[in-house]
Amino acid sequence: MVDMRVANRKRVLVTGGAGFLGSHLCERLLNDGRDVLCVDNFYSGTRDNVAHMLGNPHFELIRHDITFPLYVEVDEIYNLACPASPIHYQRDPVQTTKTSVHGAINMLGLAKRVKAKILQASTSEVYGDPEMHPQREDYWGRVNPVGLRSCYDEGKRCAETLFFDYHRQHNLQIKVARLFNTYGPRMHPNDGRVVSNFIVQAIKGAPITVYGRGSQTRSFCYVDDLIDALVRLMGSPDEFTGPVNLGNPGEFTIMELASKVIELTNSSSRIEYLPLPQDDPVQRRPDIALAQATLGWQPTIPLESGLRKTILYFEKVLGGEGKFSTDV
Ligand code: NAD
Ligand code: UDP
Ligand code: UDP
Repeated sequence: MVDMRVANRKRVLVTGGAGFLGSHLCERLLNDGRDVLCVDNFYSGTRDNVAHMLGNPHFELIRHDITFPLYVEVDEIYNLACPASPIHYQRDPVQTTKTSVHGAINMLGLAKRVKAKILQASTSEVYGDPEMHPQREDYWGRVNPVGLRSCYDEGKRCAETLFFDYHRQHNLQIKVARLFNTYGPRMHPNDGRVVSNFIVQAIKGAPITVYGRGSQTRSFCYVDDLIDALVRLMGSPDEFTGPVNLGNPGEFTIMELASKVIELTNSSSRIEYLPLPQDDPVQRRPDIALAQATLGWQPTIPLESGLRKTILYFEKVLGGEGKFSTDV
């Protein structure tokens, strides 16, 4: 009997495919010759992000909430569905935990039924406010289980547990990626994350909102580098499950980021200091030795050039060529 899957293109499901990272991933997979099924409930993503792919016969968009079962036939699953920005994931925290936990169970159940390989977009938040710096994959983290960020952090931690239990109990082929802060075009102007906030504020000449004293650090990865890592991870040898850190090890204080954005936009914006949100991690930088060794991957786009590309994007969006409302 002919295995039609050999003759046909690989069918790939991307949950959260209408979000920032998901839409870039869908594009990359189409370019790589895949059939892409994009599933999203538009909680924090938009149809606009994928509108340019809708005419492609190899792309299909389904409005669906992954906390409910999904019956489709696919070969690979990238599970990205989950709001990623603190303002979004804290808006409906119970739904955030459901998305990570019930969503993971459903996508793992689907992967089990159709024998698909499944990749989880986990997060550096599993390390919480870390005592180990930089963070390595064998660090178990320091996470508040009852705070405002817990719906996201603990949801993602539980999802990792589910992935490894389905792997051990049902022999599922899994890949777990711990993503560190990623930025680039197609972040929503009102997304609330630091890079989009600062760029939008700088372009509009509005105050740059630095939370706390701005001495906390983050490591920022440009989206193209991150998508490349996800695709490499999916293609890695079966025995490699992760968890693996994916991010750019360049570390900057939030004040340094603010200054860089002001400089690159030639902005007249001043800094406005606002209270630090609860449980805001003090420092964050990935140790990417494992990704370098197993995926032959490391980021190639330095912060300054990534910021330039992102600034160009937001200038277009705010200049009226884009489709977003822009009151940040
Ligand atoms: P995003 O908010 O732009 O995208 C998430 C997408 O998931 C949105 O389109 C949203 O509508 C969709 N979604 C949310 N709940 C859903 C549900 N129940 N059913 C179906 N779709 C649902 O965020 P992003 O930055 O693109 O993040 C994508 C993934 O990567 C998330 O899982 C996030 O936790 C993870 N991640 C991102 C970063 C980052 O810096 N961008 C860092 C760490 C982890
Ligand atoms: N599931 C799904 N799509 C499928 C197969 C399963 O959404 O194609 C869901 C199903 O509703 C179930 C979950 O995945 O709640 C876990 O499935 P599993 O087979 O692991 O567990 P069980 O069905 O035995 O609870
Ligand atoms: N931040 C800030 N001003 C903003 C948005 C965020 O100073 O307008 C800070 C925030 O307190 C955190 C860092 O920037 O220390 C990164 O925040 P973001 O929400 O982008 O991501 P996360 O905290 O999840 O890493």
